[in-house]
Amino acid sequence: MSDIKKEFTILISDDEKFNLDILASILSPFYNILIARNGTRTLELAKLNSPDLILLDVIMPDMNGFEVITKLKESDHTVNIPVIFITGLTDPDDEERGFFLGAVDYITKPFNKAIVKARVNTHIKIIDQMRTIEQIGLMDTLTKVSNRRGFDNRFDAEWGRSIRENSPLSFMIMDIDKFKNYNDTYGHHQGDNALRAFAETASQTSGRANDFFARWGGEEFVMLLPGTDIYGAAEVAEKLRKNIEEMTIPTEDGEITKVTVSIGVKSIIPTTGSSLSDFQAKADQALYRAKESGRNRVELCKD
Ligand code: GH3
Ligand code: MG
Ligand code: MG
Repeated sequence: MSDIKKEFTILISDDEKFNLDILASILSPFYNILIARNGTRTLELAKLNSPDLILLDVIMPDMNGFEVITKLKESDHTVNIPVIFITGLTDPDDEERGFFLGAVDYITKPFNKAIVKARVNTHIKIIDQMRTIEQIGLMDTLTKVSNRRGFDNRFDAEWGRSIRENSPLSFMIMDIDKFKNYNDTYGHHQGDNALRAFAETASQTSGRANDFFARWGGEEFVMLLPGTDIYGAAEVAEKLRKNIEEMTIPTEDGEITKVTVSIGVKSIIPTTGSSLSDFQAKADQALYRAKESGRNRVELCKD
């Protein structure tokens, strides 16, 4: 009947069974539906299930809808859940109050089924697009790998996990050699092609699902290897260096170009006292040594 998958959950809050039944019948073919018959239950279900959208009646026995939305907006768990009022109150002052309190829409009863459906669909579409944009916010648009923000999120999580599990964590920082020359020789556009080719080859080098590759900025990239000690990381780094050395990047004129990369590697079994920034700085110092000692090489930080 529809190509919309039931990936969104809508909480319907109304004290009248008649309204609940109609709203549920309109929306349940497309969305997962949760039902609350009063304000207290609405708050409970919102906190417990994090629905994607709430349809909220205003006049209810225990707590009115305006009080409910105020409480939703006060809690970190529920502040971002969009709320649509569906109410018998038709006074524009009430409508204005609803928007003032943070509602995204206001539908008056008696409602038209097609209009409710259309408005709900519109808001769900907005929510879906917002999420996509958030995801893009963590991705580097040129190379389509994670950007630094995405990497930092992951690093924090893996750092915490290594502390809890007392397991090794390795970090690799890599910088393309003489890349300024590459740009000067082939042009910035071809430089971008080289960065894309680099990211593709490098991200495919590691075999483990938990390894995480990202663009750190400019022509610098990083890789995180959870559960991997310095010897394992050194092997991956050397393989990566070699894969890049062997990689060819054609220009639009069919000319074959190449780049090389220098890599610094550092491993740790972190404890609560360990400093994440020191750890990263150590890898960066190893990278510096790789550059100093001739480029196209891997340097390990052994201290
Ligand atoms: P080294 O071996 O010491 O790393 O030398 P290098 O030339 O690679 O280092 P440097 O930091 O001097 O130059 C980095 C160059 O990377 C300069 C900059 O124009 C280029 N670059 C950074 N980001 C991009 C990008 O997004 N696209 C392109 N085409 N070039 C970029
Ligand atoms: Mg650089
Ligand atoms: Mg460089």
